[in-house]
Amino acid sequence: MLRIPSALAGLALAALLQAQTPFPPAAPAPSPVPILKEYPDTPAGRLLREIKDHAEVVARVEYLSDVIGPRLTGSDRLRQAQAWAGAEMARLGAANIHEEAYDFGLAWTRGTDGARLLTHNGIRFRVDQQAWTPATRGAIQGELLLVDARNLAELLAFKGQLKGKILLRTNPDDKRPPLARRGADFAAYQAEQAAMTQFLQEEGALAALTMSGRKNGLGFASGGAGRDPQKAGLPAAYVPQEPYKMLLRLLARKEPVKLELTLGGAFSKAPVQAFNVVGELRGSERPDEVVLLGAHLDSWDLGTGATDNATGSAIVLEALRALQATGLKPKRTIRFVLFSGEEQGLLGSRAYVEAHRAELDAIQAVLIHDMGTGMVKGFTLQGREACRGPMAQAIAPLNDLGVKDLSLRVMGSTDHAPFDRAGVPAFAAIQEPADYFLGTHHSQMDYPDHLVPDQLVQGAQAMAVTAWELAEMPGRLPHGVNLRPPTGAVNPSAPR
Ligand SMILES: [Zn+2]
Repeated sequence: MLRIPSALAGLALAALLQAQTPFPPAAPAPSPVPILKEYPDTPAGRLLREIKDHAEVVARVEYLSDVIGPRLTGSDRLRQAQAWAGAEMARLGAANIHEEAYDFGLAWTRGTDGARLLTHNGIRFRVDQQAWTPATRGAIQGELLLVDARNLAELLAFKGQLKGKILLRTNPDDKRPPLARRGADFAAYQAEQAAMTQFLQEEGALAALTMSGRKNGLGFASGGAGRDPQKAGLPAAYVPQEPYKMLLRLLARKEPVKLELTLGGAFSKAPVQAFNVVGELRGSERPDEVVLLGAHLDSWDLGTGATDNATGSAIVLEALRALQATGLKPKRTIRFVLFSGEEQGLLGSRAYVEAHRAELDAIQAVLIHDMGTGMVKGFTLQGREACRGPMAQAIAPLNDLGVKDLSLRVMGSTDHAPFDRAGVPAFAAIQEPADYFLGTHHSQMDYPDHLVPDQLVQGAQAMAVTAWELAEMPGRLPHGVNLRPPTGAVNPSAPR
């Protein structure tokens, strides 16, 4: 047996270990979540301790993501998740558990997507069909053309050049001065989009590709604001930044670039209904007044919808669990709502507002969690300065946990927005971004691997205590449609 001197043996062993763990794990970033030294003997203090010691949020996110999976509205998997959520509410002792239905239109299911260069390096690369756009009916082949027209006027300049072409619609190196800001007339904006779609179809373009806007191979999912195949335009897809910029470089060589593209999504044969899941803890003194704690249960389908939005859904159920576990009986009713259709345009929360329009005055406040695993730092007041006082009171027990921020900022794009527009004090949680926007949001990266458990637990503490305090406080938060300055042709129901 060859004897190796000990020093050499040590070095060899280190090299061996290095070989086995080529990427030593990076030192974890210090958690921004403050540690509470003690819990006050108050209802809020009991809720904080109950959640710190017994939170089930991570397990619920893992169940929704790993066991049920992507929950596109209109899909069987979302129905499965809704049945599970209803059963969880029952297990946790909620009252008045029910589903509220609304008309959704045609459902859509993703098929097999793929792209392959037929010229140059012949590489295959990832494409993700834009949801609720037509399929390519098998593989189509066409030459690429950069069509970075931003409005109808610019698009008309391409007349006669589009037949049989696959269009690149994003120009990340666009040096042109930005277009004049539009008025707040969203209808005009929609009409122009429809005219552009019609022009592209009439000119015989085959498909449209958009850059996903994130690098590292990340795809992006969106679409479905319109669920009518007649108006769905061209087959369309997102392409991760790296292959997209490769296509642009090849086009810049002034050589024909040919692509084979397959987009396999399908519309359902018949329209479907979609549902919101509702349960509540009835108020002991003012049962007709309601604090609504909500999140959307639907998700996109490239990943498993862990941080968008199994996290928010798990937090809503955790608040229910902790309130029950501490035996707290709120004065006002606390209503737990898991919306659907959020990703297609806040459809579930808009339907809820319409269905409950006669009762909206009875809502004390709406709290929505929808920005992933990051800790809660405060709430957007949606321009409602008059709500700052009571909201500051509601989050006071959470200040030491890092919940202090009450920004007047007006944020749309999640389920508080339809309530806010109807004059109800409705606030979205402001959160640590973690790797939400640069990573998991609508991408194939959205798995529980990206959860930050202590931040998620803090989020559950923040939402449960704020809801409790709002249910207990003597005063009512003032309602009123907040007349805010118009800000460009904002799509009032663009999802986040
Ligand atoms: Zn979301």
